[in-house]
Amino acid sequence: MQNLRDKETLITWDKDYLWHPFTQMRDWLADDPVIIERGEGVYLVDIEGNRYIDGIASMWTNVHGHNHPDLNAALKNQLDKIAHSTLLGYSNIPAIQLAQKLVEITPVGLNKIFYSDNGSTAVEIALKIAFQYWQHKGQPQRKLFIHFDKAYHGDTVGAMSVGGIESFHRTYNSLLFKSIRVSDPEPNHSSKSTADETKTHRLNAVDRALSAYSGEIAGIILEPLIQGAGGMLLSPKGFLKELSELAKRRETLLIVDEVMTGFGRTGKMWGCEHENVKPDILCAAKGLAAGYLPLAATITSDEIYNAFLGEYNELKTFFHGHTFTGNPLACAVALENIAIFEKEKLLDRLQVTIRHFNERLQEFYSLPHVGDVRVCGMAAGIEIMEDPDNSVPYPFEAKMGISVCKVALTQGAILRPLVNTIVLMPPLQISIPELDSLLDITYRAIDVVTKK
Ligand SMILES: *Cc1c(COP(=O)(O)O)cnc(C)c1O
Repeated sequence: MQNLRDKETLITWDKDYLWHPFTQMRDWLADDPVIIERGEGVYLVDIEGNRYIDGIASMWTNVHGHNHPDLNAALKNQLDKIAHSTLLGYSNIPAIQLAQKLVEITPVGLNKIFYSDNGSTAVEIALKIAFQYWQHKGQPQRKLFIHFDKAYHGDTVGAMSVGGIESFHRTYNSLLFKSIRVSDPEPNHSSKSTADETKTHRLNAVDRALSAYSGEIAGIILEPLIQGAGGMLLSPKGFLKELSELAKRRETLLIVDEVMTGFGRTGKMWGCEHENVKPDILCAAKGLAAGYLPLAATITSDEIYNAFLGEYNELKTFFHGHTFTGNPLACAVALENIAIFEKEKLLDRLQVTIRHFNERLQEFYSLPHVGDVRVCGMAAGIEIMEDPDNSVPYPFEAKMGISVCKVALTQGAILRPLVNTIVLMPPLQISIPELDSLLDITYRAIDVVTKK
């Protein structure tokens, strides 16, 4: 940044003209924002030249680091050809090549790619496809979805309808369509439910819902292995597998939302690979274009796709399409993203980083206000509590998570909490020393804030 005047102008204009997502703007206006100008690997650099480790991979999207030469080259190369042309009625080269590649790297049986621009639209599309699929199969009464407590599938109206985070969705309840929510066991003061009890509880609840709404369930939607925005909540081992078997047995569709878990975040390319699950529909977004550009894909089986084939006037067409669907720039970067996974054998190398991450995260239990540390691959949540021994949370108004992130910022890490859970989700390419420094900063920030 040239001079102080420019900085002052940017801050003023930010406050005058911008409305930030998921942000109480009154709080925002009270502070001066960090304005990012550049990125280098896992570092973000602000307009004053301060460097921060990107501890949340720029909202869980970045895979190989910022300003990556190969990704930049792929983007520039495509830019010299064309930035955008439409997929409605015409096709383009990167969109075709990426579709072929995605079919190759997703679980067997997922063979058709429907593009959109973000995670919420990927989910909307999955829901609409499932809903319409049953109409084509002569079961139009199947129009309900089963979803889970604490689920997060995005902020558009359809995606919110299958969401389970009360604080996000309560305001909009009367706007949402009916969906069947499977609740977790009531917290019991004498003992916490074991993972196995939770698994059985959930599976039984799904089974009961399938009976109560017999023939009316279009599909079951979930985040595999770990619920992200709900607070980095780990699913019981085997739950996904058993749920997929239940869905198959009861002839309903399984929709797996891999928007966060996809592209290596859990240590495998897809979360559902850990339990060898082949969903009917898979949603991908965040890491798809390596954190460079907005791009999403809803990927379905041939069985689903084929149900939409018919005569023009039968109106079996899938009536959905966003203007920038299959954008060539985004698809070109996504292709290079996958190419880097392959040429660098990233998933193999990642196992060492994951082991180190996991080991070092256990150290956080020595902090008296750390109540729980949850980790799945390169995604972690550290939950701080007023009284961990009695599972007493800090009150929402105390803004403890936010305070930890503010202290971490002064120490050189960019974080964003989920209420009282500190999220760590660095780019997958983070080195061990960089990861150590992120963990050290986070540890000290929690220590400082919770000691007060
Ligand atoms: C982030 C997220 C979404 C929504 O994606 P957007 O691109 O923000 O619309 C949906 N599902 C999951 C699991 C997510 O983590």
